[in-house]
Amino acid sequence: MLPKKLQHTPTTPKKIAKHSYNAPVRVPSFVQRDHPLAPYTSLALGGPAEFFCQASSRAELQAACSWAKSARVPLTVLAGGSNVVVADAGVPGLVVHLVWPGVEVLAEGEGRTLVAAAGTPLDQLVALTVQEGWQGLECLSGIPGSVGAAPVQNVGAYGQEIAQVLLWVEALHRQNLSLQRFAPSQCGFAYRQSRFRQATPWIITRVALRLCPGGFALACHPELSRLLGTPRGTPSLSQVREAVLTLRRAKGMLLDPHRPLPGSVGSFFKNPVLSPKAWESLKARLWAQGVLPPGEAPPHMTLGEGIKVAAAWLMEQAGFARGLRHGAVGISPHHALALVHWGGGTTQALLDLASAIQQRVEQTFGISLEPEPIFFGFGSTPPLRHAVTL
Ligand SMILES: Cc1cc2nc3c(=O)[nH]c(=O)nc-3n(C[C@H](O)[C@H](O)[C@H](O)COP(=O)(O)OP(=O)(O)OC[C@H]3O[C@@H](n4cnc5c(N)ncnc54)[C@H](O)[C@@H]3O)c2cc1C
Repeated sequence: MLPKKLQHTPTTPKKIAKHSYNAPVRVPSFVQRDHPLAPYTSLALGGPAEFFCQASSRAELQAACSWAKSARVPLTVLAGGSNVVVADAGVPGLVVHLVWPGVEVLAEGEGRTLVAAAGTPLDQLVALTVQEGWQGLECLSGIPGSVGAAPVQNVGAYGQEIAQVLLWVEALHRQNLSLQRFAPSQCGFAYRQSRFRQATPWIITRVALRLCPGGFALACHPELSRLLGTPRGTPSLSQVREAVLTLRRAKGMLLDPHRPLPGSVGSFFKNPVLSPKAWESLKARLWAQGVLPPGEAPPHMTLGEGIKVAAAWLMEQAGFARGLRHGAVGISPHHALALVHWGGGTTQALLDLASAIQQRVEQTFGISLEPEPIFFGFGSTPPLRHAVTL
C-alpha cells in the first residue's frame, strides 16, 4: 500500500521560477530565455531555465560568467544532466550548459597524463584508456556524464573512484574569472563527496588524470570478480570493461540509445556509511525485528573506519520493492536504488516518492538516507532531507 502522501494527481506548475531584478535585464544574443531543461537531463523532468546558454570553450564560459555577474543573475552549471533534479517551476537565472570536449595525452616517464576538457564524455575517456591499455579508469565504464562533473561527487563504481587517479582539477572562479589548480588533497574527496558538491564559486574547466600503462586491471569488487570467475592471471582491461558494462546493463544502470530505459539519475540515494557503533545497533534492530536471523548481517562493505550499507536493501526491506510504480514515477524493475520516470510525470511526484522512502526507512531502521543528485531551482529550501540545492 502506497503512503497517502503519494496518492495525488500530478499537476503542471503554474508559476515559472524567475529571479527578481532591480532593473530590466539586457540579454545578449548568445543567451536564450525560458529554455526547456528536461531534454538535457537523464530524468527528463523539470521546468525551463529562465536564461540559458551553451559554453563550448573557456572563452564562452567566461563570457557567460561575465554577463551573469554584470546582470546580477544567479548562474548554475549543467553538463551531462545525469545527476540533477530540476524543479517543476524551472531554474531562475542563467543555466550554462558545458559542452566542450577535448583530450590531450602527455607521456611522462612510465605513466600517462591525460588532460581532459570539462565537457568530454566520461565514458569516451574511459573507453580510450582501456583501448590504449592505460589502467586506472576501467571500473568506471558506463558512468554517464562529463569529465568535469566527475570530481564533483568523486564518481565511483566497482571499487574505483576518480580521486584515485586524479592529478589536478583546474577551475574558473565565476566572479573574478581567475583560474586555479586544485591538488587532490585540496578537493575534499570522500565517498560521493568533494568541495565542488556544494555552493561554490568554482567551475571545473579541465581535469588531469595519471594512468598506468600496462598496469594490472582492478577487479576486486565481489560482483565483478564473481562475473569474471577466477581466470588464470589477471583479467585484461577490456575484460573488466565488458564485465562492468554487463553488470550495469543487468541493473538498468547503463544508458544505451538502442535500449531506452525510463529516466533516472542512477542511484537516487547514497549508501549510508555507519560508524561501528551504529552498525552494531542496526544489526541488533534487524535481529529484534526478525528481518534477519541473529548473527546475519545486511549487505555491506567496509569503507575506511566505517561500514557502507546497501541502501537498496534497506529500501526493499522497508517495502519499496523494485518495479513499484505510481503513475509516471516509480522504482526501477532492475535496481531498487534507481527512482525512475516513465514519461509525462512531474518532479514533485518523484520527490513525493523519495520523501516517502526516506521516512519509511528512517522509521523502520533509524537510518537517514541522503539523496545523491543535486537539486536545481529549489532556492535555499531543500525539497528533501539532506538534499544539496543549487
Ligand atoms: C544510469 C546512471 C548510472 C549512474 N551510475 C553512476 C555510478 O556508477 N557512479 C557514480 O558516481 N555516479 C553515477 N551516476 C551519476 C552521474 O552519472 C554522475 O554523477 C556524473 O558525474 C554526472 O555528470 P554530468 O556531466 O551528467 O553532471 P550534471 O548532472 O550535469 O551535474 C551534476 C552536478 O555537477 C555540477 N557540475 C557539472 N559540471 C561541472 C563543472 N564542470 N564544474 C563544476 N560543477 C559542475 C552541476 O552543477 C551539478 O551540481 C549515474 C547516473 C545515471 C543516469
